Amino acid sequence: MKNKFRQIDNCIENRGSATVEGGISSVDSKSVDGRGLGRREAVTGLLAGAATIALGAVGCRGPEKSHATPPPPRAREPRPRAEGGPFSLPDLPYASDALDPFISQKTFSFHHGKHHLGYVNNTNRLIANTSYSGKDLETIIRESHKNRQEDMAIFNNAAQTYNHTFFWNSLIPGGGGEPTKELAGAIKAEYGNYEKFKETLIRAAAGQFGSGWAWVVYDGAKIEIESTSNAGTPIATGKVPLLTIDVWEHAYYLDYQNRRVDYVESVLNHLANWERANKLYLAAKG
Ligand code: MN
Repeated sequence: MKNKFRQIDNCIENRGSATVEGGISSVDSKSVDGRGLGRREAVTGLLAGAATIALGAVGCRGPEKSHATPPPPRAREPRPRAEGGPFSLPDLPYASDALDPFISQKTFSFHHGKHHLGYVNNTNRLIANTSYSGKDLETIIRESHKNRQEDMAIFNNAAQTYNHTFFWNSLIPGGGGEPTKELAGAIKAEYGNYEKFKETLIRAAAGQFGSGWAWVVYDGAKIEIESTSNAGTPIATGKVPLLTIDVWEHAYYLDYQNRRVDYVESVLNHLANWERANKLYLAAKG
């Protein structure tokens, strides 16, 4: 394995690709409040499912990839930007191919670059010249939830803006598996063990009819699992979200078609950012 890592390191050092270098620096930049990934772990994380990352330098190609001539460098997609207004589309906290093969770059290009962007633009447009103008996003969500007979469109778009940003941060390359630290204890206290907790979370995600979200929340006293439909969000009802999984079809259809449970299992086994969930839990618990 050492040789393999050295080869990957050399490949990356010799290579001028913004995609992989950008990916590593973004993973490294997360290491302060993330899982403390070292460079090697970051590289390993990026290469988990590495078939799609074509290493361009001579001698760096994976064994199953052999072309007579190197493929042309992939054009970088333009960075999606919101139209004018108080809210902007946040960048993903990792490279758009960093979660491949569990969530593909193609899914991110639509899910982040089109769906999330659309919610941000709609929120900006809908709140202009209303009593919501000038308020922060969470206030807009809570107030429009109270007035949702009249302000359903504002609630839907503001909550989806919030939920998607929360979701991107609920994932991390090389994540998943069992939570650790204080959160692990709180889960055990409520569910007995991780397997039971996982089973309950998968059932909540799979059982959400139509579009929605599965959440791990802190209700002020204990850990809970809940699902919300459409744009529903725990912050509208005063609970503290710790981790979420988007179960709208647009979140998984390109990679998993109708296999929602397989997608949810991939998130829990390989992507869930429990380190962040634990920090949110500790902050909420006080
Ligand atoms: Mn979504």
